[in-house]
This record gives sequence, C-alpha cells and structure tokens, in this order.
Amino acid sequence: MKTPDADFIIVGSGPAGVSAAFPLIAAGRRVLMLDAGTDAGSEDESRSARVLGRNLESLRADDGSSPKLQTPVARGILERFRRESEITGDRFTPVASLARGGLSNIWGAQISYLDAADILGWPIDIDPLQRSYERISQRIGISTNADLTSEADSGSVLPLGAAAAHVLHRHKAAKPADGSFRLFPAVNAILSEARPGRAACDLRGDCLYGCPSGAIYNSRQDLLALQKSPHFRLLDNVRAISLASNAGWTIGTADGSSFSAPRIILAAGVLGTAALLADLLPIGERGLRLLNSPTLAIPLLSPARLLRSATATHSLAQLGLSLRYGERASDYVTGAIYEVSSLPTQSFVNRMPLGRKAGRAAFETIAGSLLVATIYYPGDQSRSYIHREVTGKDMTVRGGFADGFDIRAKDLKRRLRREWKRLGLVPLPGASLAEPGVDAHFAGTLPMGAAGPFGTSVDGELNLHPGLHVVDGSILPELSSKYITMTIMANADRIAHRLAEMEANPAL
Ligand SMILES: Cc1cc2nc3c(=O)[nH]c(=O)nc-3n(C[C@H](O)[C@H](O)[C@H](O)COP(=O)(O)OP(=O)(O)OC[C@H]3O[C@@H](n4cnc5c(N)ncnc54)[C@H](O)[C@@H]3O)c2cc1C
Ligand code: SF4
Repeated sequence: MKTPDADFIIVGSGPAGVSAAFPLIAAGRRVLMLDAGTDAGSEDESRSARVLGRNLESLRADDGSSPKLQTPVARGILERFRRESEITGDRFTPVASLARGGLSNIWGAQISYLDAADILGWPIDIDPLQRSYERISQRIGISTNADLTSEADSGSVLPLGAAAAHVLHRHKAAKPADGSFRLFPAVNAILSEARPGRAACDLRGDCLYGCPSGAIYNSRQDLLALQKSPHFRLLDNVRAISLASNAGWTIGTADGSSFSAPRIILAAGVLGTAALLADLLPIGERGLRLLNSPTLAIPLLSPARLLRSATATHSLAQLGLSLRYGERASDYVTGAIYEVSSLPTQSFVNRMPLGRKAGRAAFETIAGSLLVATIYYPGDQSRSYIHREVTGKDMTVRGGFADGFDIRAKDLKRRLRREWKRLGLVPLPGASLAEPGVDAHFAGTLPMGAAGPFGTSVDGELNLHPGLHVVDGSILPELSSKYITMTIMANADRIAHRLAEMEANPAL
C-alpha cells in the first residue's frame, strides 16, 4: 500500500457516510470522504429553478412515477446515476444517486425506529442500536405532527394539516375494524425550531421541490459540521471505480487518481456499493438478492372536508399507519398519509380517469379534501436480484414480487377499505402498485451475520475481504416495512463507534 491518505476512507456523503464519519473523527481518526457529487445543490437555487428546472425538466411528460421523483432535482440525481453507474433495471427502477448528500436531497424524511421484535434475526442487540438512534435523532432534528387546535404545544411539534387532523380525530373516536390497525401523527426529520444554519419549517408546503431553508434534514448539512474538524477531508467530484487490496486498500477513481487507507468504508447506497464490489464478489448467474419494499399508493377523498380550504403545513407525511397481514413478526405494512393540496395539479390529473380540463377543475374543487396513502410491504415480499452481465461490468437489477403477493395485496386492500370507511375516507380510482425500485427502500445484499461470500460481520466487514466495511442498507439482514434511513444511519454510527476503538492498523 502506498502511504495511507487517511486512517479510513469513506465512499459516499449520504446519510450513511456522514453517520460513520462523526464517531471516527470524534475519536481523532483521520477520515477522507470521497463523493461523486459536487457542492452545487438545490438549496442554493431560486424557486423557479427548483420548480421548473434549469433546463425546464418539469415540462417533460409525466412518466407515471411518484411526483417526488419527477422534480428537476430528482430527475437530475437519478439520471446521472443511470448514465454513469452501469446499472440498469428490468421491471425495476434503479433509484440511486451520484450527488453530494445522496438521496437525502430528495427523500421524504419520514422516520421509523425498529424495535427488538424487528431485529430478532439480526446478529446485534437492540441496545446499541437504540443508543445510536438517540445520537442520530439529536443530530438531525426530529419533529412530530400534532393537532395544535386541540393539543398543548409541547416538544418538537409542527401543526397537522386540517384534513389529516380530521382523519386522526375520527380514528380516535371509533375502534379500528382490525385490532392491529394503528394511525398516529407522522415523525419527520423536519426542524420545528431553528438551529445554526437551518431555519424552522415555514409551513409553506413547498417541500416537494427541496427545502431552501434547510428545515428538512439533508446530509449535506452534516458535511459543513464535519469539515470544521482537522481530522476530516472531503473530496467532491471523485467517483470511485475500483478497489484493490495490498496491505490495506487502494481506491482507483474515474479521473485516474488513487487513494489508500488501512480500512475502507463503503456508504455508496445499496446499488452504488454493489457496483463498486462487482469485481470482488462472485455474483455469477444467480445474482445478488436485493430486498426492496413493494409499495402501493392509494388516493383518498375526505367528503367532510369538501370545499374547505387546506391549512398551512409542510407537504411531507402527516400521519403514519401500520396494519398486520399475517402471523409472523414481520407480517405488517407501514405507511403514511399525505395531504395533496400542494402537489402539482398535473400529477393528480394524469392519474384520474377524466379529461385534462375536467381533471383540473375537479382537482381545484376538491384539493383541500384529498389525501394519498402510501403503503410499504416488508422486503420478503419482493423478489429482486442484481445480475452481472456476462461481458463487461454492466449490472441489471431484475425486479419482482414474492409468490402469492398479489393475493395478499388484494386482501390487504380489502381490509384497508374497512378502515378508510371508518375514517370517513373514500378510496378514489387510480390506486397503483409502484414498479419495484421506486420505493427506494433497499437492503440485504451483504447481510450482517451471514456466512459465505456475500456475508458481512457485525462491523459490516466483508467475509471475503478483511478491511473492507459496508455501512449502508446493503448490510441490513432483513427489511421491515418501516422507513429505513434512520436505521441505516444508526447502524453506521454503531459500526463507526466500534471501528473507532480498534487499532489504526491494516486488517490484512
Ligand atoms: C423520493 C424518495 C423518498 C424517500 N423518502 C424516505 C423517507 O421518507 N424515509 C426514509 O427513511 N427513507 C426515505 N428514502 C430513502 C433514503 O433516501 C435512503 O434510504 C438514504 O438516502 C440512503 O442513504 P445512503 O447514505 O445509504 O445512500 P445515498 O443517500 O444513496 O448516498 C450514496 C452516496 O454515495 C455516493 N456514491 C455512490 N457511488 C459512488 C462512487 N462510485 N464514488 C463516490 N461516491 C459514490 C453518492 O454520491 C452519495 O453521496 C427516500 C428516497 C427517495 C428517493
Ligand atoms: S414547508 Fe417544507 S419546504 Fe417549507 S420550510 Fe417546511 S419543510 Fe421546508
């Protein structure tokens, strides 16, 4: 190995990468972070550039995916990954990033925490994960939605929109049709109080196009804090393309440079990390199993709210929900309810069985009474694999669903209809199952605790390659239906605390 450039090199500046960096620099370890993205970001742009796009991207045809994936900033991030990563999808949308801050530039910021039952099959205990959850929550800022017209304003709360508050009120007034149905105010990584460099949420609901005030957590914000440390160095516009071991590890980059360290930490996102490891793992014919969350979107109308105006709130998740569909501990769906008055009219009109003009008029009349529920299944309901093409480095993700998924989904929709009825909600036509990948909840390619060439240790260290650690979603052994990013960050924090205690010697 040439002279090490740092004690640890972290690849990726998304939520996983920054979460691994903090404990290491706090312990005095020298960290070099490489990221394929640049400093330019959505937060610096004018509103018209954010909404329309510098090249008027938002005037392009609606491709039927989530409105969140069609904003100019989202299109820019996803298209660059598709162009440069050599990963394509077959009945799978490869949602991944080559951007400073990763997918946290466009995420929905909804937060879930796993509990002991969710990680029964994992090789770690819940206690260290909970300690890491606590540290991450403090760092990124979390708030809960609350009906401030009826509840005291205590803690970090933001007001629920009027339609969502109405639904929650109905829920509290009548017992669920299914005893396992839960509906609760959503928990989001949005600031209710200003912090240095970040303003509190202004409730203007512009969230779809990026949050110019920084109220929504984005891991770019953490980079500013990390860069204040003399132990931390960030190199932008540096895309890692190869990994070689030689008494330590050397990373080759697209511009022909190389960087070495005793240990490398991969935080390139599940697809980005798989691409980087393509030459080091025997991916072969069968492919690498990828867990993703099958996702259902259901438009809902609250007739009691018809012709009533929407109230000021953010346009991220207002309410969270969960419902069991089977006997096993993981057999439950998790979801969110959004108010849609701040979504682009067009994305609603395109999904309704009405003409353009009629659709637009209908939207304007009923916008304040419209909601959308998104429902996530656990990863065992997916059947997706990353395959390596026989020639070259190209990889294809083939998406699919578990056997019997359609029957379970039909049954779940039927049981949800009973809850919608109790809540005074009418499901509208246009419910859709997203193409695998659109969920962006990926895990399980390199599971912690698994034996064999794809397994990793509790420190995310590859069984086949000592000194090469992974801290993104790849190493989560199972994918529950809960929102995943808080767990990715907490697990990265947990691993980095363990690595910070190790000798700074090469693992080889
Ligand atoms: C529309 C949308 C909404 C979402 N909403 C939610 C939500 O509400 N709640 C939730 O929990 N999760 C949500 N997610 C998922 C969340 O964004 C991801 O789980 C999270 O960003 C993963 O973090 P990461 O750091 O592992 O990867 P990423 O965020 O993908 O970051 C990867 C980083 O690696 C860098 N990189 C990749 N390859 C290379 C390379 N070869 N060389 C150098 N750098 C490289 C990238 O530039 C990037 O900085 C959402 C995602 C999307 C797309
Ligand atoms: S409403 Fe949305 S965009 Fe505006 S400050 Fe709040 S979170 Fe950010």
